[in-house]
Amino acid sequence: MPKISGQTQLLGVIGDPIEHTLSPEMHNAALEYLGLNYIYVPFWVKPQQLAGAIAGLDALNVVGFNVTIPHKEAILPYLADVSDLAQQVGAVNTVYRSEKGWVGTNTDVHGFLAPLQQQTYPWSEIAVLVLGYGGAARAVVTACYNLGCRQIYISGRQGERLEAFVTSWPWRTLYPLAWSERATCLEKVSLVVNTTPIGMSPHRDATPLTGEDLARLPDTAIVYDLIYKPRPTLLLQLAMARGLQTLDGLAMLLHQGAAALEYWIGQPAPTAIMATALETALGTE
Ligand code: NAP
Repeated sequence: MPKISGQTQLLGVIGDPIEHTLSPEMHNAALEYLGLNYIYVPFWVKPQQLAGAIAGLDALNVVGFNVTIPHKEAILPYLADVSDLAQQVGAVNTVYRSEKGWVGTNTDVHGFLAPLQQQTYPWSEIAVLVLGYGGAARAVVTACYNLGCRQIYISGRQGERLEAFVTSWPWRTLYPLAWSERATCLEKVSLVVNTTPIGMSPHRDATPLTGEDLARLPDTAIVYDLIYKPRPTLLLQLAMARGLQTLDGLAMLLHQGAAALEYWIGQPAPTAIMATALETALGTE
């Protein structure tokens, strides 16, 4: 716990609910390690209080903040400026100050890409399957589009919402796939991304794809589950048993946080310290 003084600067995260966030552990460990007189706190902000909360954060001279469910899209009209990337995604997860006022950006795209970019893979030649069409899926689809992926199949359980999600971008490489049809593209797909909460603790025995489904993937495919509790999920256990490369959500969580911290403090984030803090926090839950 840092010593709080008259010079202590404030960072935080707004969301509803907010009590399960791991961001304070990750950011406060980094700030302490760097010897900076900052503190990062969770703010429980209900949807009807969003406008007041943003004005209040400004009035209280908060340096910057993260944005999580359900405010990532709703916050857009309240910002003085929105980065090109956040506009492309249609969602903001990080807010920092400029002379004009609050600026929104999106570091989830960077977080998602960080573990993928550590490997050489012919991204522009591959097809991707994204399961789910919520907030995280917006960052994933934008990231896959920017990687140049040839086809991006998106599957979700409500037809109208799926269609609205796909048509919210002008890109021709996006293909909606009914939830009951989600396994039909697997022979063609080299990256599967689960952005649904299926398999998240405490529902550890749930999986959006079965072992039989995964058998249809090419041997070189990667299965990426954005869930970080449990590690690994049943989906990733099945993918490992099939001999596929797997990625869980911890690296995304870490790298979106590191990128956000760099906006606020203007220096490189200590990612190893942040990773340890996350692993410790997850281990004690
Ligand atoms: P969200 O906006 O609520 O979206 C969830 C999506 O999952 C929606 O499309 C929802 O469809 C779908 N879904 C939920 N239950 C389903 C089911 N039983 N069958 C089929 N589809 C189902 O949530 P989010 O912010 O995108 O987060 C989604 C997941 O990603 C969570 O597990 C979260 O922890 C994880 N996440 C991880 C990171 C990271 O840094 N690793 C970052 C963000 C999110 P309906 O709308 O039809 O219910």
